[in-house]
Amino acid sequence: MTISPPRFECLWREGFEPAPTEPPRLPTRARCVIIGAGYTGLNTALELARSASGEGIVVIDSLRIGDGASGRNGGQVIPGLKLDPDQLLARLGVEAGAALIEAVGSAADYTFALINRLGIDCQARQSGWLQAAHTEGTLRVLGQRARQWQHQGADVRMLDRQQTQALLGTSIYHGALLDTRAGQLQPFQYALGLAAAARVAGVTLAERTAALSLRADAGGWLLSTSRGDIHAEQVVIATNAYSPALLPGLPQTYVTLWSLQAATAPLPDSLAPQVLPGDIAVSDTFRVLRYFRRSHDGRFLLGTRGAFRDELGAGDARRVREEMLSLYPQLASVQLSHCWCGRVAVPASTIPFLSQPAPGITVALGYYGRGVAMATRMGAFVADLVNGLPAAQSAYPVLPWKPYPAAPLHRTAARVTANVMRLRDLLERRLRAGAPS
Ligand SMILES: Cc1cc2nc3c(=O)[nH]c(=O)nc-3n(C[C@H](O)[C@H](O)[C@H](O)COP(=O)(O)OP(=O)(O)OC[C@H]3O[C@@H](n4cnc5c(N)ncnc54)[C@H](O)[C@@H]3O)c2cc1C
Repeated sequence: MTISPPRFECLWREGFEPAPTEPPRLPTRARCVIIGAGYTGLNTALELARSASGEGIVVIDSLRIGDGASGRNGGQVIPGLKLDPDQLLARLGVEAGAALIEAVGSAADYTFALINRLGIDCQARQSGWLQAAHTEGTLRVLGQRARQWQHQGADVRMLDRQQTQALLGTSIYHGALLDTRAGQLQPFQYALGLAAAARVAGVTLAERTAALSLRADAGGWLLSTSRGDIHAEQVVIATNAYSPALLPGLPQTYVTLWSLQAATAPLPDSLAPQVLPGDIAVSDTFRVLRYFRRSHDGRFLLGTRGAFRDELGAGDARRVREEMLSLYPQLASVQLSHCWCGRVAVPASTIPFLSQPAPGITVALGYYGRGVAMATRMGAFVADLVNGLPAAQSAYPVLPWKPYPAAPLHRTAARVTANVMRLRDLLERRLRAGAPS
């Protein structure tokens, strides 16, 4: 069969692209300007509007809503962080650690409740998430993770090899962690729904309006944008892995990685029951992990670490396709329809970075690949600070301003590490394929 190249466009926008409109007139003064119309910025605006009104709240984005990671991600709504509860307790101490575990553990519940409350149509389903172990060693690590979350009262449990195979339709995994708090959604529809709710609440939302510079001004901040200046009492920077140099050191607070994704054409009826029959969101434990699920219209979607660039070519699509076939060889007869990528921020702080580098400025970013739930949840913590909650009382720790020391070296190290991890995964897979059964 001839395999045609996919469209190098994000699947999620197809059929949902709003008609272009003129951005609204910018006010010259605002209570709070939020830079970045992703989940962090939009939910900050919604939470601020809920506690008072949307009047005086302005969200700007240099591009369109959801053009950052929020409109192009895998749509897996996963609670928690990459660090486990015991690691958070060890790092922050008993009291602050417990508050953080509650904050991150409830992030998926919070997100689904928000979607319900606002009535956002985004194919949201709290249908669980599997973290599938590719070795006995990683299965043991998952077992410890599950026990730690159970200790916190969460419905997280282990599945054995047969149970995992029954849900996934592949026998390559040794078992899995099942987290029933998690689920999936259509990420771009979700971003559009948050934006629509913010507009209804009276928030001014200006797309194609870039923040250019920021300087202290009488009683607040003067933000210069591509469409005029705004004097703001408070400014929130929610630009994640797309952050400009608005503050000294801002782009150095994280290292950028790229995540690459592709979707197949809708699966034929003959294949649908064989490919991910459990219809659940999945990530695995390879060093360069794969995350996959089925879309609401019956496509198979898979993502993995991308090359360190925004532009894609045939080689990128080939690589995702090979990953798909390593899981489900039956997909050899199915075309890829779309392939796209986006940026992920890995913060110097190792947990998502909430900081107040100057009075009246709040920065929130750096969710790795856990931002669907966590960036949404973060909006509530940011709004509390904007509303005057002292940093010491925040349920989420407000961290000191911490750029990576020698950031360019970290970027180079990230590239080298990514390549080494990919090679180690490949070697491990080859050895297993050659091992007698
Ligand atoms: C391909 C991919 C797959 C992913 N999959 C998952 C997943 O399955 N599950 C999960 O939990 N997480 C996933 N993530 C991560 C998740 O999408 C992000 O953590 C989350 O969307 C971050 O939201 P945000 O609002 O902080 O940032 P973003 O959504 O990136 O928004 C930042 C915004 O800032 C704007 N901006 C930048 N500079 C300026 C400026 N100067 N002026 C005005 N605006 C500006 C940008 O245009 C952008 O719209 C994935 C990420 C990618 C890229």
